[in-house]
Amino acid sequence: MALIVQKYGGTSVGTVERIQAVADKVARFRQQGHDVVVVVSAMSGETNRLVDLAKQIREQPVGRELDVLLSTGEQVTIALLAMALEQKGCPARSYTGAQVHILTDSAHNKARIRDIDDQRIRNSLARGRVVVVAGFQGVDEHGDITTLGRGGSDTTAVALAAALKADECQIYTDVDGVYTTDPRVVAEARKLDRITFEEMLEMASLGSKVLQIRSVEFAGKYNVPLRVLSSFSEGEGTLISIEDEKMEQALISGIAFSRDEAQLTITGVPDQPGVAYNILGPIADANIEVDMIVQNVGADGTTDFTFTVHRNDYARALEVMQDTARRVEAREVSGDNHIAKISLVGVGMRSHAGIASKMFETLAKEGINIRMISTSEIKVSVVVDEKYLELGVRSLHDAFELDQEPAGKSGN
Ligand code: ASP
Ligand code: MG
Repeated sequence: MALIVQKYGGTSVGTVERIQAVADKVARFRQQGHDVVVVVSAMSGETNRLVDLAKQIREQPVGRELDVLLSTGEQVTIALLAMALEQKGCPARSYTGAQVHILTDSAHNKARIRDIDDQRIRNSLARGRVVVVAGFQGVDEHGDITTLGRGGSDTTAVALAAALKADECQIYTDVDGVYTTDPRVVAEARKLDRITFEEMLEMASLGSKVLQIRSVEFAGKYNVPLRVLSSFSEGEGTLISIEDEKMEQALISGIAFSRDEAQLTITGVPDQPGVAYNILGPIADANIEVDMIVQNVGADGTTDFTFTVHRNDYARALEVMQDTARRVEAREVSGDNHIAKISLVGVGMRSHAGIASKMFETLAKEGINIRMISTSEIKVSVVVDEKYLELGVRSLHDAFELDQEPAGKSGN
């Protein structure tokens, strides 16, 4: 018998019929003898509807009141699910975040969980009940309701699983797992049985929007095995966990990509200490996040500097750079917002050389020019023209044979 935390997202509880279907699933787990804690999101579209109502009164709603409003979405679904479970003869109790003492800081709309007092949940479980907890919400030390940021129910589920030392945290969603890449781009994309926390973080932050990034960080930190699976079909989903040495690792687990990139270049910058600071300082001051950075070795006492930002920040970054160029007497500023980033991700890279060169070779064969390269221990990223994104991802998926199960896999 295991203790399992299950989280159902907005589409999984989007109608009364779907809530009934979730209740059936949960009741089946309970019948198998497991202790089950269920975390639910608001019905799909509800949180957006509430945000919209608030904005009709004030464009920037007061954080405290917005949280009072937004937390109602999840309160509706916990009550309905508990009712549906009871109706099916499965004892259940619903609780808001405050009722189970999900203590957060006071940063309204983006609060962080500090502590969870699991006693009430344990008591309820001990009485044989399914415990249904509202996701996305908590309470601060003043007793005020807080919310954890959009998508925060994932984090609630992981935090509860960590506090309860659950055997597994299952995230039920509308996809049946994590794929080697986006199946809309590569039809042969394969569902992964397993992926490590680190790899998932790289995949998530690079655009595979399956889980709230913070929930993956949290799960990694407390070593909570996370499983992503579909609420609409049967299947094992994808298990996200620590690296398992017994298992033969694939070299590459997946290919992440993002179109939302823009590149800026400043040339002929006098090469002296403080160049990077002079250029990137004002960008940081403008609250623009920089991703890749390349500085060339200068020959004639000047240097060139290229970096990438999110495409939404491109226009502003360009303005800031033009100012900077005047100030540091650089030659020219140029940019391009039709670029994309492709990244190979895999913990197997740590112990194998030649991944990057195979990547470059593959892109070269397709005639795709690489504009920038960056690497980390488990990732190689390249920036290419946006028009080559699909071709690049497909040819890499093919070259690294990601459509095939890695050899020597232990099957578990
Ligand atoms: N209902 C919240 C949202 O839509 C939290 C969640 O679904 O995880 O962002
Ligand atoms: Mg969600």
